Amino acid sequence: MTESSEKIHQCLILGSGPAGLSAALYAARADLAPIVLSGMDLGGQVSKTDTIDNYPGFPEGIQGPDLVAIFQQQAERFGAEIVFDSATAVDLSQRPYRVTTYGGEYLAETLIIATGASVRELGVPGETEFTGKGVSYCATCDGHFFKEKDLIVVGGGDSALKEGIFLTRFAKSVTIVHRRDELRGGIYLANKAKANPKIQFIWDSVITEIIGDGTVNSVRLKNVKTEQEEIRATDGVFIFIGHDPNTEMFKDQLDVDQNGYLVLDHHMHTNLPGVFAAGEVGDPHFQQVIISAGMGAAAAMEAVEFLEDES
Ligand code: NAP
Repeated sequence: MTESSEKIHQCLILGSGPAGLSAALYAARADLAPIVLSGMDLGGQVSKTDTIDNYPGFPEGIQGPDLVAIFQQQAERFGAEIVFDSATAVDLSQRPYRVTTYGGEYLAETLIIATGASVRELGVPGETEFTGKGVSYCATCDGHFFKEKDLIVVGGGDSALKEGIFLTRFAKSVTIVHRRDELRGGIYLANKAKANPKIQFIWDSVITEIIGDGTVNSVRLKNVKTEQEEIRATDGVFIFIGHDPNTEMFKDQLDVDQNGYLVLDHHMHTNLPGVFAAGEVGDPHFQQVIISAGMGAAAAMEAVEFLEDES
C-alpha cells in the first residue's frame, strides 16, 4: 500500500518483530486499527532464528519463522494491517507525527517504535569483502552451505553459543573464538556447547583479518594476552558479537543512551508525548523474545490510554 492522502492514523508501529507484532495485537484489540511497517525483514531477528526454546507455550520449542507467522496471524485477526515497507525518516517536531517510508508517508497520533537492533560487525579487513562468500551473520540462513566444513564462530555470548551449536548440524567442526577466557552466555548453552564433540574453543583471541581467494580460506588470529598471531585455516566465519539498536533515524529527536538505545520509562514512554517504544531498540539489558513481546503489549496499552486521556 502507498499512502498519498493525509489520513491520520491513530497508531503507527515501526517494526514487525515480537515487540511490533505484540503491540499490533494489543492496539488492534483496542480498535486503534494499527498499521505496522514491517521493516526489511518481517519478524526481525526472530525470523532468522532456528529453534526458540524459551518462549512459553511451546514446550517442544518453535522455529523462529513459525512464531512470527503466528504473531502476525493473531494481530491480523483483530484488524492490524501489516505493510511491507520501511521508515526512512521521521518528523517528531509536531503531532500528528510524520513518517516517511520507501512507499509514501504516514501521519499518526501515536507511534510505537519497535525497530529492533542490527548485527554488529567486527570491522576487520576482509569482513566486508567476504560477506556472503564465507562470512555470515546468520546461521539459519547460511549454515546449510557449509556441510562437512570447518567453521569459526566469533563471540562469547548466547548468540555465538546457540548458533555455534546449530552449525554443528552441518559443519565438520566449529571453533568458537572468544576475546576473553570466560563466556558471557548463560550456563545452559555454555554447557551444551562444551559437551558438543564438534565444538572447540579458542580463548583470549580475536580475529584481526579474514583472508581468502574468492571465498574465505583462513583468518589471522591474535591472542590478546600474549600478542601472538597465527593464521588458521577455515571455510567460513560466523560473527555473533552482539547488536546495535536501530535508532539512527530518531537520535536527534528522541533521548538515547550512550550506546544508542532509546531511553524509556517503565511504561515504554520516550521523552515525547504519544511516542512509545518496545523491544530491543529500548532494551540493552534483556533482549529476549518474551520481554520484547511484553514491552510491545505495554507500549500499545499506553498508546490506548494516551489517546483516551486526550479524547
Ligand atoms: P552479547 O550478549 O552482547 O554478547 C556479545 C559477545 O560478543 C560477547 O561475548 C562479547 O565479548 C563479544 N564481542 C563484542 N564485540 C566484540 C568484538 N568487537 N570482537 C570480538 N568479540 C566481541 O550478544 P548476543 O550473544 O548476541 O546476545 C544478545 C542478547 O540476546 C543477550 O541478552 C542474550 O542473552 C540474548 N540471547 C539469548 C538467547 C537464548 O537462547 N536465551 C540466544 C541468543 C541471544 P565480551 O563477553 O568480552 O563482552
